[in-house]
Amino acid sequence: MGRTAGISLFNFSRIGDAVRNLNEIPLTEVKGIGEKKAEIFKKLNIQTVEDLFLHIPREYEDRSFVVKIEDIALFKRNTIRGRVKRVTELRPKPKMLITKALFSDETGSIMLIWYNQPYMKNNFRDLSKEYLVSGPVSFSYGELKIENPEMEPCGKEMVSAGIIAPIYDLTKGLTQKSLRKTMHDAIKEYQEDLENFIPEELIQKYQLYDKKKAIREIHFPEKQDNAVVARETLIFEELLLFQISIYLLRENIQKRDGILFHAVPEEEIFLGNLPFALTDSQKRVLQEIKEDLYSEKRMNRLLQGDVGSGKTVIAMILLLICAKNGYQGALMAPTEILAKQHYDNFIKYLDGFSLEIRLLVGSMSAKEKNEVKKGLLDGSVDLVIGTHALIQNDVEMKACGLVVTDEQHRFGVFQRYRLSSKESKPDILVMSATPIPRTLALTMYGDLDISTIDTLPPGRQTIDTYLVSRNQIDRVFRFIEKNVALGRQAYLVCPLILDSENLENVISVETLLQEVKRAFRNYQVGFLHGKMKADEKNQIMEAFQQNKIQILLSTTVIEVGIDVPNATVMAVFNAERFGLAQLHQLRGRVGRGSHKSACILVEGSGNQDSVERLKILTMTNNGLKVAEMDLERRGPGEFLGHRQHGLMEFKVADMMKNTDFLISTRKEAEYILKEDPPLKKPKYKKMKEYVFRKYRQMLGKELLS
Ligand code: ADP
Ligand code: MG
Repeated sequence: MGRTAGISLFNFSRIGDAVRNLNEIPLTEVKGIGEKKAEIFKKLNIQTVEDLFLHIPREYEDRSFVVKIEDIALFKRNTIRGRVKRVTELRPKPKMLITKALFSDETGSIMLIWYNQPYMKNNFRDLSKEYLVSGPVSFSYGELKIENPEMEPCGKEMVSAGIIAPIYDLTKGLTQKSLRKTMHDAIKEYQEDLENFIPEELIQKYQLYDKKKAIREIHFPEKQDNAVVARETLIFEELLLFQISIYLLRENIQKRDGILFHAVPEEEIFLGNLPFALTDSQKRVLQEIKEDLYSEKRMNRLLQGDVGSGKTVIAMILLLICAKNGYQGALMAPTEILAKQHYDNFIKYLDGFSLEIRLLVGSMSAKEKNEVKKGLLDGSVDLVIGTHALIQNDVEMKACGLVVTDEQHRFGVFQRYRLSSKESKPDILVMSATPIPRTLALTMYGDLDISTIDTLPPGRQTIDTYLVSRNQIDRVFRFIEKNVALGRQAYLVCPLILDSENLENVISVETLLQEVKRAFRNYQVGFLHGKMKADEKNQIMEAFQQNKIQILLSTTVIEVGIDVPNATVMAVFNAERFGLAQLHQLRGRVGRGSHKSACILVEGSGNQDSVERLKILTMTNNGLKVAEMDLERRGPGEFLGHRQHGLMEFKVADMMKNTDFLISTRKEAEYILKEDPPLKKPKYKKMKEYVFRKYRQMLGKELLS
């Protein structure tokens, strides 16, 4: 018994040549990866050697501990070392081939078994060869055996059997073994190109590995502990580079000459026409924002405020000011439905200001889109409202003055800078309804100043929130019935579209739709989900808006922004599967008119912890309080909801879990940029090169001059 001693996986080094940029080397350059294999990797978001290296193992399986056959632990994975004594093939049925190899060491024997692998027998022509074998050991018919073992000849570099084996996330067409082999070959080939982007002194200070060691040890750790340090190194690196980027971005934006806007008389007229007066909160943020606009400082600001706090009207005022200063303005929404809704509102509220306002969304025909694009380029369009379609490379504006993005967390940090303008550097305003704790805010919005609307408009009713269990659905239905009978409308939300997604205790739109249609024969029931075409979605939303549909079933596509004042019930099924912030957003879809509204959370798991968590929503209508209480209980991950984990597109770091790294890297980035703002010192050379290269890739253009 003992550890496999001294297997050195990477005793190879390339000599000569300059270092290559791994994020510019396509995967097809790696030995054994052709176009076809590359397509498979692409599904895992792996396109370059760097991506491959940062595809880090989900977990490890320690197979470095070799046991004697007499010491084997039954029904567990064991790794043994020995030789094949004899191979036999059986054909119990015409289409079945069983290959059995008797495998021995000096203490005993075990049977290795494969099914339908006719070539297997040929592998064992040379019975003198020694192998490491790994797999779960079972015992039946008086025989010790391992079915489908992983097996590798001893001596040469081993990637599966005798080591602490990495377990990766896979996709169809990839196996653990083949991925390990690819990883191993790539590390061997490219390890000399791995550079420390983290400055040496920080590697020392935080006791991290250098990059080569980090990559080796994350994939093929010599000891389990090494994998931990390797991971810390990669997280630190990723976050430090990110923080440096954010700082540079911010510096760069603020130092550039912003547009000097002037106050316009139309603002007063607009405010006078509004059916309401701005709240004190709204007035305050408007003032803060206007200070940016009316100065040469280029605005780069976050406007936070609970659902319904009245952010849109602020955006409208700002875009009006922008247009009346002779610049174009853009409003970017995360979904087409929302873009359309904003568009309708803008048309309505800005009627009479002689502005050319246009919509630009993906589902429009190429011809319609081209027309809008042309108008943006020649300056005839004043305001454009749209989705991601606005940040495609072919969209360019003649003189863009202000870009407002709504519900920012759906867009990546770098995306907000993509909208390009020929003749100006637009001011940027980001609007978010998700209150987030300060550390996260600094990271998600570290490049922004922050304004907060902290009160709701007066007369806003509180929404009664009820928590019920799955077996009270009848009651929920009766409640909905009561509301629709009064002429109101209801949203029903569930986490899944189809039953086939097959999660226990989780109701799908598909199933619920049947039940609801049965229960509400006298009403129109519609449904909506993210996989539908934009056209279909819009039609259904419009029908709901016009009360042609009374009950709308949906996945969370309706989560943001939709405004249907006649809707008074929001029922969320399997509420435990959503983050509280998400639920709070959903709740904000009702209570938008004068009718008393309610939110019903149907808990589906029966889990006491979920119940306690959901109770928070029944205690307060204030999004910020919800956030604080939930954060106290759970930490930021649960609060924001799982879907949003991907929002920073980090490969290694998890901004919800690695809060301590967020703080330390931010501190270090701040220090570095204070000490050496242009990053001129040699110790920052690598880091600087990398960050600048990354910018070019992310922004599709040179941002830093
Ligand atoms: P948000 O975008 O912050 O979720 P909206 O801008 O959509 O909120 O505002 C929600 C509703 O409140 C809209 O119907 C809007 O017209 C209305 N509203 C905005 N500001 C006020 C105000 N000061 N007084 C009354 N109603 C307001
Ligand atoms: Mg909004």
